Amino acid sequence: MPVTITEYLRPDSLKEALALLAEDPGKNIAVAGGVSIVLSGAPRRVRAIDLQNVGLNEIASTKDELCLGAMATLDDIIHSPAATKVASGLLPTALRTAASEPIRRLITVGGNIVQCYYWATLPPLLLALDAKIHLRTSEHRRTLKATEFFAQPPMRLMEKGELVTDVTIPLKPSRRAAFEKMAKTSNDYALIHVVVSYVDQRGKMSDPRVVVAACTSLPTRVREAEEFLEGKTVDLNTAMEAGQIASHHVKLRGDFRASADYRRRVLRVMVQRALLKAADKQTIS
Ligand SMILES: Cc1cc2nc3c(=O)[nH]c(=O)nc-3n(C[C@H](O)[C@H](O)[C@H](O)COP(=O)(O)OP(=O)(O)OC[C@H]3O[C@@H](n4cnc5c(N)ncnc54)[C@H](O)[C@@H]3O)c2cc1C
Repeated sequence: MPVTITEYLRPDSLKEALALLAEDPGKNIAVAGGVSIVLSGAPRRVRAIDLQNVGLNEIASTKDELCLGAMATLDDIIHSPAATKVASGLLPTALRTAASEPIRRLITVGGNIVQCYYWATLPPLLLALDAKIHLRTSEHRRTLKATEFFAQPPMRLMEKGELVTDVTIPLKPSRRAAFEKMAKTSNDYALIHVVVSYVDQRGKMSDPRVVVAACTSLPTRVREAEEFLEGKTVDLNTAMEAGQIASHHVKLRGDFRASADYRRRVLRVMVQRALLKAADKQTIS
């Protein structure tokens, strides 16, 4: 059901935006890229608070972390030299598979992770990279780990009038990582996303992450597969077994695009492939 925008405001500072959102949090809604406002579950008559000019567009890095402003777009990240430093370019490589180029110029970090549709590309990447999400209301600030933020639909855990201001990703220790997407066409919604990452300790995996999304109701770390991989060397047998464990332990969803059983079979191979790819070993189909 389309929403009716009764008033459209474009504040010039974050403080002003937060004050406007606090005025009537039931009716005032934040607009980022605007790609999915119509589907966002917003009340039908809304006052739109456009975040374009509030100063959250920056992408910057220090020696310890990468900071993505909530209004940075997927296209900004793809073309950011700072973002390329993370896990050998995982972010641009993965985000190039999201939607189409014109839509990637609109989709923002904040909108993508707050709405967190099944097919959203950024949430599983943030889980695999141990990101932190920074939030703010007119009254206070808080920071959540990605595991906390995505443990339930983010909109449910956010307070009325609360905004994501930015996301930070640690740059140390540096991680090897790989991303896999399965969809019916190159820019269709994902049926399965897999992201793996680990710290390479002289050829052995330390602190591995195995993240599955699109085929689950929320992006999910597969702890059983991570425990299995800790301290192991990536080879074909290890990658195959991790794929088996992941596909066995994840609660998969099916829909008109693909059944849960089909996704389980494909997921096994995708986890296997992602691990071999992260380790620069030959992949098999
Ligand atoms: C054809 C198509 C294909 C797509 N394919 C993909 C894909 O493959 N991968 C992918 O990741 N995405 C994809 N998307 C985009 C995705 O579905 C969402 O539309 C998009 O992530 C929304 O981002 P936005 O910046 O436009 O947010 P908006 O639509 O502006 O906002 C979405 C919601 O988040 C809230 N919000 C926005 N910013 C903030 C903030 N900073 N703090 C608090 N709340 C906030 C808004 O109030 C609203 O409720 C696709 C979209 C289309 C139309």
